[in-house]
Amino acid sequence: VDLYEKSLVDRISHKDLISILSCQDEVKLDSIFKNAYQVKSHFVGRKVFLRGLVECSNICALDCYYCGIRKSIKSVPRYRMSSKEVVQGAVESWKNNYGSVVIQGGEISSPEFSDYIENILKEIRQVTGGELGITLSLGEQSEETYARWREAGAHRYLLRIESSNPELFASLHPPKQQFDTRLEALALLKKTGYQVGTGVLIGVPGQTVEDLAGDLEFFREIDVDMIGMGPFIPHALTPMKDAIPDFEQRKEEQLLLGVKMIAAARLLLRDVNIASTTALETLSSDGRNRGLLAGANVVMPNVTDPGYKVSYTLYDGKPGTGQTSDEGRINLEKSIASIGESIGYGEWGDSRHYFNRISAADNC
Ligand code: SF4
Repeated sequence: VDLYEKSLVDRISHKDLISILSCQDEVKLDSIFKNAYQVKSHFVGRKVFLRGLVECSNICALDCYYCGIRKSIKSVPRYRMSSKEVVQGAVESWKNNYGSVVIQGGEISSPEFSDYIENILKEIRQVTGGELGITLSLGEQSEETYARWREAGAHRYLLRIESSNPELFASLHPPKQQFDTRLEALALLKKTGYQVGTGVLIGVPGQTVEDLAGDLEFFREIDVDMIGMGPFIPHALTPMKDAIPDFEQRKEEQLLLGVKMIAAARLLLRDVNIASTTALETLSSDGRNRGLLAGANVVMPNVTDPGYKVSYTLYDGKPGTGQTSDEGRINLEKSIASIGESIGYGEWGDSRHYFNRISAADNC
């Protein structure tokens, strides 16, 4: 039985995941990606949904060992965009007909920050007449804050677990950042009514293929609606700068592992939204399209003002940091058309899985 047929009847096994993730044979890999693409076409269509990405602030209270804006790095100029600038980025996305915006930033938990985001959300809703879908990616917050932001107009939230293996999680984060707290935050997001997304770092030292298969099974277990994951790319100012000493020679390997994870996620989870992330594009100019052809269906063009973009480098070599969003949009459109996919202009592109899980819960 081929993987497409197996996926249709929800029979992708742990063994299948391991064999997808370990596959090195080009012909077999080609067939895996084609099967995953068929599953994507069947469950979510051959359409790419866009979310304009606004990186509202690079100030973060946390210290993840892999991150280029972690708290301990003193040499990065820190910024927080004014509410007006964030709203402008959202309005630009709306005018470009992107359908949705993602507001992403370092994690700050304070009443003042909650107010800042709440006011931005209300303003975006007012200016766009509620036409723009809104995803947040602002880390762990209290239930009250999640609820206030939901009420103010956000309806999707991305919070990456980074690894579902608690030991590996602990190797990537200082002891103050706890695996269980992150799990609780994911549960709170679901309780508050968001479409919930998570994701992992792929190809970190010490990670096995079993760990990655476990990550995919974890996504299924907590029943997520969206996946945003990407290959690990070392950042020169972090404690993990030399974690992959021959990184330059291993870029293709990292990229391929990221693409295999997308294919395996599509085959296993079927109707979720999966982002083809910037990390793929950083490793190769065709990385984003390879992700789309392996089952991803969401792309997040960066609409952050170029003046701020340069200071928001989670990893080294991030593309498009000197590009205006107009240039980025034109290149993106051409590139997506070149692989025969269409763009869901003006559509929110919500996760089909979310609606399926809500209606399943209603029928219980
Ligand atoms: S990964 Fe996110 S939470 Fe961790 S240091 Fe970077 S911005 Fe902060």
